[in-house]
Amino acid sequence: MLNLLPNHIEAIQEHGEHDYPHECCGLLLGKFLNNGHKSVSEIYPISNAREEELKRNRFLIRPEELLRAERYAREQDLEVLGFYHSHPDCEARPSVYDLEHAWPTYSYIIVSVREGHAAELRSWELQADRSQFSHEELVRAKEVELCQ
Ligand SMILES: [Zn+2]
Repeated sequence: MLNLLPNHIEAIQEHGEHDYPHECCGLLLGKFLNNGHKSVSEIYPISNAREEELKRNRFLIRPEELLRAERYAREQDLEVLGFYHSHPDCEARPSVYDLEHAWPTYSYIIVSVREGHAAELRSWELQADRSQFSHEELVRAKEVELCQ
């Protein structure tokens, strides 16, 4: 389960609309909670590293960008919980490319952007055997960590 605030969802939607007709991408930073849920505290936008002609279909985060994001997260005492990207004029479900480049444990939010406007937004998790994604429940509120 992924907890996030309405302003996090808005930030992802706006990033997707801004980069349309290209894919946007970024990281979800926050905390893994003791109950196995994830709580997002911050959206970390990253530019799309792909060549212009490939941008429309696939997202890629450069290793140095990921390192910078991970360093930033550590400084804020946060963890990388997962990634988000947009699907311009496509459904908010993972592509074969997404499946081949995903890791278990992380959350993968996909926002569909249709004709420049953010539409459905869903979160996915890779199954442990890496064969496919499962839909991950999104809770649009912050879950408070009770035991510190
Ligand atoms: Zn995708």
